[in-house]
Amino acid sequence: MISPQATKVIEALGGDTVTRFVGGCVRNWVVGEVIGDIDLATKLKPREVMGRLKKAGIKAVPTGIDHGTITAVCDKVVFEVTTLRHDVETDGRHAVVAFTDDWAEDARRRDFTMNTLLADLSGVIYDPLGRGLSDLKKGKVIFVGEAAERIAEDYLRVLRFFRFHARYGRGKPDELALNSCAAASRKLKTLSKERVTQEFLKILKVHKCPSVLTLMRTNNLLRGIVVTSYQELLLTSLIKKQKECDDWALSARLVIVGGLKRSAPAAFEKSLRLPKRMISQMSEILGAVKILREVTEQGVKLSLYRHGAEATLQALFIVGASTKFYTLPPVPVFPVTGKGLLKEGFQAGPEIGIELKKREAAWIANGFV
Ligand code: ATP
Ligand code: MG
Repeated sequence: MISPQATKVIEALGGDTVTRFVGGCVRNWVVGEVIGDIDLATKLKPREVMGRLKKAGIKAVPTGIDHGTITAVCDKVVFEVTTLRHDVETDGRHAVVAFTDDWAEDARRRDFTMNTLLADLSGVIYDPLGRGLSDLKKGKVIFVGEAAERIAEDYLRVLRFFRFHARYGRGKPDELALNSCAAASRKLKTLSKERVTQEFLKILKVHKCPSVLTLMRTNNLLRGIVVTSYQELLLTSLIKKQKECDDWALSARLVIVGGLKRSAPAAFEKSLRLPKRMISQMSEILGAVKILREVTEQGVKLSLYRHGAEATLQALFIVGASTKFYTLPPVPVFPVTGKGLLKEGFQAGPEIGIELKKREAAWIANGFV
């Protein structure tokens, strides 16, 4: 936020009485967490934002110009610039917006008080609703305005509530908010799979997610995603090991959320739109878990050979293998090839495949030697 790029963009947009940092970046800065994307709020109208950025030689992309959002790219640093606005009409998914130049009015359309904070270039924090900073410091995720009403405007806020609670919450969640979320459980299916997936994966990324997932499941949220056989303790122990090894594979977390079932990857497709790579990685991990039910050196090699190093490591975490297994041997490479067999005098055709299989089995049985 003190980078020359941020200064350049804000100066181009009328300085920090007109354009300020807002939302996640300010919130994370206050609690000393890593800052992800940088959002800016501005009094300037979208057309003017476009014009001024271009004039200053900063790339401007009208990503969501109807809602007032323009993406500014300055020396490879990305800023989402959104004109102060309030929602005129909302139907649970989409909003019609009107622009304003009132910081507090813009704050009132935001989801949680901790997300309404603004900051200027010198680091002064503005708290237009007067309680964002204290809620954040207390670890309380509080809806802006009346929880049930705000949820009915956009049901995704239910998932966002749990994400922010997992990440910034301390103690029990706000009861009123929790009850309002639970009451909206039937409405989540009206959301697009893409939005649900994006938000759900963000929840799963939070290291403190296991208990929050239980809370969501018992409130009938995440139906068809977190299964009844979900084991909170197993997820906690997996995440602990992932942290120790600095490896955050979400596919392994998904495997546990899906109850370690072979059918889980396919079942998820009904409610989520997961990247293909993630679904196939889940299957690899499940295969590796099956092999590693009892951990032996031979089993580890077999798992490496069949499912690769990444899936094997995650499976070792899941089955609770002792740490001595975490340093993996190289993935075995089967040394016999079809070409080699032809040279030995085998005839091209099915015979080769059969012989390969036979030798592969012998090679595996001989400890991959
Ligand atoms: P992250 O660190 O995950 O990016 P963030 O707070 O920046 O957290 P974003 O999803 O990037 O979250 O949204 C930016 C800001 O826009 C939020 O801080 C919030 O003020 C507002 N916002 C985003 N989504 C909604 C929503 N569905 N309803 C109301 N306000 C929202
Ligand atoms: Mg953000």
